[in-house]
Amino acid sequence: MSLLQTFLEELHSRYRSLEQGNPASYIPELAKADPSWFGICVVTADGQVFEVGDVQQQFTIQSISKVFAYGLALEDHGREALFEKVGVEPTGDPFNSLIRLDEDSKRPYNPMINAGAIATTSLIKGKHPTDKLNHLLAMFERYLGNPVFIDMPTFMSERSTGHRNRAMAHLMLNFGMIDQNIEVALDLYFQQCSVMVSCHDLAMMAATLANQGIQPITQKQAVNPDYVRDILSVMYTCGMYNRAGEWAYRVGIPAKSGVSGGIIAVVPGKAGIATFSPPIDANGNSVRGLQVFEELSLKYGLHLFDLS
Ligand code: GLU
Repeated sequence: MSLLQTFLEELHSRYRSLEQGNPASYIPELAKADPSWFGICVVTADGQVFEVGDVQQQFTIQSISKVFAYGLALEDHGREALFEKVGVEPTGDPFNSLIRLDEDSKRPYNPMINAGAIATTSLIKGKHPTDKLNHLLAMFERYLGNPVFIDMPTFMSERSTGHRNRAMAHLMLNFGMIDQNIEVALDLYFQQCSVMVSCHDLAMMAATLANQGIQPITQKQAVNPDYVRDILSVMYTCGMYNRAGEWAYRVGIPAKSGVSGGIIAVVPGKAGIATFSPPIDANGNSVRGLQVFEELSLKYGLHLFDLS
């Protein structure tokens, strides 16, 4: 057995018993997750897989979708045009914050907070809502190498309880940050958050970003390589909710987490890594996932500024 596989198994048995945090409950469907689910998967840029635990368990991708939707919006509009509409500044505020959406800010701060993600998704091209959805799903399929599905109960759950996201969209409309059709944008945003993935799938998606946008198994281009750098930059500065700074300091690789308990991280040129464990902390990050990434980064010197 490889040393990496042995280490992943060690980490899995060490943190399996860590019982801090709780599955997100503000979206009723997410509260149904089993707190003991725990998977770790590493996929190298050339497609080798090392994994342990509940790596095939399906769950909704949630905020991790923001990374990939941003890539699609970059392809649809180009770097400068998108930058005019959605910034790249970290906020240090909670992901669903309504502050800083005012006359002075002109555009949402970055595409990883909800306001920026809704604005980004509103820009995804397509004549009709179904065309936009198909465009988005085709993008996810390029990363996964498989068909993708939306979990209808989660979509309905988000849609019927997402008052805060709806309020955000109205505020942005009021300040001219997004176009009229906010209901279409919100539905598409709730749909992208409700795409079903496994921990294995997430590591494959991260490995695609590590491999200049080429899916390691299918060898197909999932995203234009010109934009991989932009995607990784916002992941690095804004990907871990209001712990992004501490993550950059301790772990030091571009990453994104979601409230369903997934975390993805990209070691450029080398590998994609994903963890899945539903109990999250007050910032929204998976508690077991944070521990696993700190240890992996330390053991393998993954921090981008670790030159030793
Ligand atoms: N759909 C979720 C929301 O907008 C995404 C939350 C997340 O994973 O951060 O509330």
